[in-house]
Order: sequence, then structure tokens, then C-alpha cells
Amino acid sequence: MESVLVLTQADETGAALTRASLEAVTAGLALAARLSAPLAIGIVAADATVAANSLASTGAKLLAVSGEAFAQPRYSTDAAACEALCRAAAATIVLAPASSRFNRVAAGVAHRLGGLIDTHITAIARQTLGAPGLASETRETDSLTSAVEATRWFYRQRIEAVLSRDVRPWFLLLDAGTHAAFTGQPAAVQVEGIAVQLSSIRTNVSGLRAPSQGTQTIRPDAKLLFVAGAGWTKKQPDGQTHVAEAGDLILGFLRTTSASLGSSKSLVDQGGEGQSVLPFLTHLNQIGQTGATPRHPKGLSTCCHGEEPHVVGWRFIAERRAISLDPNCGWTRGKADVVYVADAFQVIAKLNALLEDQAQ
Ligand SMILES: Cc1cc2nc3c(=O)[nH]c(=O)nc-3n(C[C@H](O)[C@H](O)[C@H](O)COP(=O)(O)OP(=O)(O)OC[C@H]3O[C@@H](n4cnc5c(N)ncnc54)[C@H](O)[C@@H]3O)c2cc1C
Repeated sequence: MESVLVLTQADETGAALTRASLEAVTAGLALAARLSAPLAIGIVAADATVAANSLASTGAKLLAVSGEAFAQPRYSTDAAACEALCRAAAATIVLAPASSRFNRVAAGVAHRLGGLIDTHITAIARQTLGAPGLASETRETDSLTSAVEATRWFYRQRIEAVLSRDVRPWFLLLDAGTHAAFTGQPAAVQVEGIAVQLSSIRTNVSGLRAPSQGTQTIRPDAKLLFVAGAGWTKKQPDGQTHVAEAGDLILGFLRTTSASLGSSKSLVDQGGEGQSVLPFLTHLNQIGQTGATPRHPKGLSTCCHGEEPHVVGWRFIAERRAISLDPNCGWTRGKADVVYVADAFQVIAKLNALLEDQAQ
């Protein structure tokens, strides 16, 4: 019989679980129910009390590795914590959010336990009969090790693969935004503390340095993805470029909407080519075939042509809108739900004014 473990971690407050951890809890609950398998949730946190209480209504067995050594991400301590949790739960299927913390250690932990790992998982199901997606019947199988299948995308989200493995434990790292975050009534619960033997710790975490909120433009949890294209830095109808104004308009929009900022490749490449650029954009903002494929409910593309390699990155944007001067741009040819053939400078200036009025 399978045994499911969900690995979770505390957020920067040190007490509550990260959103991605809560998404993994949702996936774990669904999988355990489908397999009629026992579910355990492992928590890595300095103090796991609040996190554990928030999971009271899952009915899962709660395990925790806690203590100051586990407050900060660090390979040796995180790997030891995850290994101990997996052993304590005797897990055959281990789900974890694809956070930087778990991404770093999960493969090593799978190796220590003689298991295997798959990453970028977007869905998990019980194995179905025949070709994936064609049959709806659930196969009743004697084999305990072939009843689970996991889905992930390859080749920049163009090919969807369904995987199953015989090796256990099987680690599955879940991409963020693929499951709803678990919510439930908190209550005092019993947590089993798992002791971890730590050998000497050679890495000391002296603190974190992160961009201030104002300059942090990549926001995976944002409802809206705002994408800036190269048009923002091109000559406009008056024959001039207006890069400073473009920067102000984009930052103003991000400030009022808390949208995440994406970019086309052409725009971020301009920096390396010595042209005037928007200073707050880097290649980390790039969306597309050679960029990111973020997940947001809505997307607004501005001054961007809607070329295929760019639009590939919009694979998981649910509702797409675009503003372009060109009525023949890629967006108008079926790649966006709504296209405004208009000057983005004027549209965003008007929009910012309306949003600021609304905020007052
Ligand atoms: C192998 C390969 C991989 C690639 N990978 C990526 C990738 O990952 N991501 C990516 O983005 N690109 C990628 N590209 C490049 C991609 O094909 C496009 O060249 C690029 O995305 C175009 O960027 P753009 O639309 O911002 O600029 P442009 O093509 O220059 O388009 C600018 C647009 O802005 C409009 N515009 C100008 N002024 C205004 C205004 N005032 N108001 C409204 N609209 C205005 C113009 O009408 C035009 O449509 C890749 C290409 C290749 C060959």
C-alpha cells in the first residue's frame, strides 16, 4: 500500500506555512483520498506549532522537525530534516513544493533513500487504463507501485508527459500555482517531533539580502502579469523615444495593481546591445521560449508584437489581453482574448489615473 508524505516549510515569518506548501497539502489530500492511502504532513520550521495547528482539519498525521537550525534554508540541515521526515513516515510517495529550499535538497534526499525524483509536476492522478487522457476508467491494479501517475510539461510547455515509476520512494516536486492552497479551521493538534542527528554545520546563514518591495517586480502570486515589449523604447509618432516616461508609466501601473512584471526578449536584450533600457528589467523578467512560463489568472501585454517564441510563455495565463499599435500583430491573430489597437502610452497613463482615483 502506498503511503503519502507532504513536505512543507514555514514562510519568512517562521510560523505560517508558505503558500506553495499549502498547495502541496491540497495535492496530498487528493492523492491520499484517491489511493485510500495514509497521509502524513512533515513540517520544517523553527517552531512548528502554528503551522501544525493550521493543518488540523486535514486529519493527516503531523510530523515536525523543528529548532533554530531549521529556521534558515541550508543544504545540510534541510536535507537531514527531509530525510528524517521521510523515514519517520515510511513514505512511498513524497510531495513537496518546488520552492528554492526543497528544490535544492529533494534530489539528494531521494538518493539517500534509494528513491527517484521528478520535478515540475503539475498534476498527480491515479493511473488510468490505456493512453493518458483517452480512458476515464480507473484501473484496479494489484501492483502497489504503478498506481500513481504524474504530469509535467517539456520543451517549454509544448509537450505534456504523463509519468509513472515503479521505484519507491518517488519524490514529486510540484510547480507553484497548479493547486489551490489548503485552508481549514485551525485547532490545537498533536504533532510528532522528529529528532534529527546533525553532524557539524559548516554553513552559517548570516542574514538575507533581498530587493526592497518597491524594486521587486517578479511576483509569482500576483493576479495579473503585466508584460512590457520593445515598443516602449521605440521611436513614437513624434519621432522621439520616451524611455523615462515609459519607465514611470510601467512602475506606476505595478505600484497600483501589484502586478508581476514580465518582458519580451527583445526589450531585455537591448541592455546588452547598448540601447536605452528600462533599468528595472533583467532577463529574469523574460517570458517565453527562452524565458519563464509563469502562472497568473490574467495577463496584459503592452508594446509587444505577440511573436510565437514570446507567446509560448503565456501558456498558463488564463485571460490574455494586449495593447499594440499594430492591427496585424501576433496577438490579433488569435493569441489574445482582447486586443486594444491603441497607443500604450496613452492607455496606461489613463489607466494609472483611474487606478489612483480608485485607491483614494
Ligand atoms: C529561438 C528563439 C527564442 C526566442 N525566445 C523568446 C522568448 O523567450 N521571449 C521573447 O519575448 N522573445 C523570444 N524570442 C524573440 C521573439 O521572436 C520576438 O522577436 C520578440 O519577443 C519580440 O519582442 P517585442 O514584441 O517586444 O518587440 P517587437 O517585435 O519590436 O514589437 C514591438 C511592438 O510594439 C508595438 N508598439 C510600439 N509602440 C507602441 C505604442 N506606443 N503602443 C502600443 N504598441 C506599440 C509595435 O507595433 C510592435 O508590435 C525568441 C526568438 C527565437 C528565434
